[in-house]
Amino acid sequence: MAHPAVNGGGDNGVPMILTDPDVFVCCGCRDTLTIPIYECSKGHVILCSPCCNKHGYKCPFCSMFIGDKRCRAIEAVMESMKTVCCYAKHGCNAIVRYSEKRDHEKTCTFVPCLCPQPRCDWISNSNELGQHFKVKHFYKRIPFKYGEFFYVSLRRDTTTRVLQAVSDGKLFVISNDKREKKNSLILFHVGPNSWIPKFDYEVRATSDGAVLLPQTFVETTQGLKFEFSLLSFLHIPIEMWPCNGQIKLQFLITTVSGADKVVSEENNDQNGRPKRIRNRPVGLNDFYP
Ligand SMILES: [Zn+2]
Ligand SMILES: [Zn+2]
Ligand SMILES: [Zn+2]
Ligand SMILES: [Zn+2]
Repeated sequence: MAHPAVNGGGDNGVPMILTDPDVFVCCGCRDTLTIPIYECSKGHVILCSPCCNKHGYKCPFCSMFIGDKRCRAIEAVMESMKTVCCYAKHGCNAIVRYSEKRDHEKTCTFVPCLCPQPRCDWISNSNELGQHFKVKHFYKRIPFKYGEFFYVSLRRDTTTRVLQAVSDGKLFVISNDKREKKNSLILFHVGPNSWIPKFDYEVRATSDGAVLLPQTFVETTQGLKFEFSLLSFLHIPIEMWPCNGQIKLQFLITTVSGADKVVSEENNDQNGRPKRIRNRPVGLNDFYP
């Protein structure tokens, strides 16, 4: 596909069409070149700096030594060119130097995310995804407010429940992995993978026993291929599930800034909500005092 490219020479800039974007692709990793760019002594291969390291400064095609021979002409062309982000169709308006395109796209907040509702294949940036979910799956979502406890009923064989923050529409997914003797739960925020976590959460399973997770960062994912982190699981043994197969979970999601946190010295605060207990170790022993 042709990428529109714009000459970066201020008022003298000339719009151009790049018919073969492969000329600015690294021969080693097939990603967009970043400066510095190197060529082998035969001059027929161009490589980005990480690939020079990876290939031991030898051309992957002719094995000639690459050394420190920079490909200045290509560098100058790339420095002078600007282009749109590959997520432009998902709402990103950024015009970036061609040489900085790769870095921008790695951290672009318009990265498309998959709708977490099972059997829905809607993909959009995370802000639009929030609006989509509110309109299309209104009755499937569980609305909540940051810093306030709320309850979620979960069946043992329900694989996902979607939570939506009332204030900013952000989506969170409770992923429920049913095993023979326990269920393992984890909470994800739906957003670009490059996002640094901005939320923490606590969850309490209420039954005969109870357990709290220590204060935990919410991991972020763009899709439904969750990478389960052993540290932030809530394991609920089969003995704890009520006879009707439905357990009541108490959640608290806070923004890391802490502005929304509920703070109280008593077991319950003035509004009758359970107070936060931080950094309590968690384990199956919590169920068998
Ligand atoms: Zn490379
Ligand atoms: Zn070569
Ligand atoms: Zn972008
Ligand atoms: Zn959807």
